[in-house]
Amino acid sequence: MKKEKIVIALGGNALEKEGIPATAESQLETIRETVRYVVDIIEDGYQVIVAHGNGPQVGRIVLQNEGAAHLTPSLPFDVCGAMSQGYIGYHIQQGIKNEFKRRGKDNGVISVVTQVVVDQNDPGFKNPTKPIGPFYSEEEARKLEIEKGYNVVEDAGRGYRRVVASPKPLQIVELEGIKTLIDTGLTVITVGGGGIPVIKRDDGTLEGVAAVIDKDLASEKLAKDLDADVLFILTAVEQVAINFNKPNEKWLSELTIAEAEKYITEGHFAPGSMLPKVMAAVDFVKGRPGKKAIITSLEGALRALQGETGTVIIDR
Ligand code: ADP
Ligand code: MG
Repeated sequence: MKKEKIVIALGGNALEKEGIPATAESQLETIRETVRYVVDIIEDGYQVIVAHGNGPQVGRIVLQNEGAAHLTPSLPFDVCGAMSQGYIGYHIQQGIKNEFKRRGKDNGVISVVTQVVVDQNDPGFKNPTKPIGPFYSEEEARKLEIEKGYNVVEDAGRGYRRVVASPKPLQIVELEGIKTLIDTGLTVITVGGGGIPVIKRDDGTLEGVAAVIDKDLASEKLAKDLDADVLFILTAVEQVAINFNKPNEKWLSELTIAEAEKYITEGHFAPGSMLPKVMAAVDFVKGRPGKKAIITSLEGALRALQGETGTVIIDR
């Protein structure tokens, strides 16, 4: 029987834990735990493709670059994104490999440096909203606006921060290569951090841009392009709630498209956190019976596949 194909989108908590210094060593340690859940799913008989976020990591790389600008030229934002994809992918692929080794197996795993095309006229570029990197004084911020063309905004009374656009993912450049790798039986790690955002020039060539693509939306695009059976969004909560954090909070085992759309309009899902997940889930299943999106925690993942927990989004 053909294996079911699952795209797993790993959230921030799969890569680093709150309250401990965000070192490379602690990331590796956290990923060591994360990959156990991923390998459990592979061993359960699923074909797994792994995607992940990069917000904190790319912010730190930018910070390191700016802090060392007097020693060596700063790297542009798209290059910082590529670096974050590289080292997170490295940690995940090493972690998966080691976990298999521990289980007496020798399965293959590979990360793909992945570019994702965005529209240069995406409204996101006119209104950048995604804060990245360090806080600046107003004076520093104005200087960066002039000297580097950064967009800076005042961030909740804490100082000024650079903001970049969060455009919609349109096309995964390396898709054919990714499919080929999957077909050979490898576990593929791709669209890390939502992919490195690139625009297509008039002559069809690609050029990196300063932006962060939402990883849930990029994972959804990937899942659709691969004709995956399940889009699995793993985050810090086991289920999606309505009236989240309120006395009448209600955790949901199942969400239909109509319910999801109603709850989105009513504002139940926080923008930048739960909202893109629910939107990605709805987009993935809408008009495609048999497809399933599941939002749950790492710990709940395997049980959610058996229908025992998580929030399942289906079109019925
Ligand atoms: P990621 O795992 O991709 O890093 P986030 O941490 O940004 O995702 O978003 C997940 C978080 O969204 C949850 O841990 C929870 O605190 C918050 N959240 C906001 N609205 C809801 C909701 N309606 N139901 C459940 N969680 C919600
Ligand atoms: Mg997060």
